[in-house]
Amino acid sequence: MNKEPEKIACEVCKKLIPRDAAITYEGMDYTLHFCDIKCLDYWKEEQKKKTEGKGD
Ligand SMILES: [Zn+2]
Repeated sequence: MNKEPEKIACEVCKKLIPRDAAITYEGMDYTLHFCDIKCLDYWKEEQKKKTEGKGD
């Protein structure tokens, strides 16, 4: 028997990674998964840009 680990796509680069190995980021009402801390940092930067772009 070989049991495939559940795989999920990284939010940034869409690479498939085993759920156990993913970095999880929990927001207010959502959960995101990243393959790597670099992808998490990239995503955070993108969010910051979006936030800064508002109310200008
Ligand atoms: Zn990634």
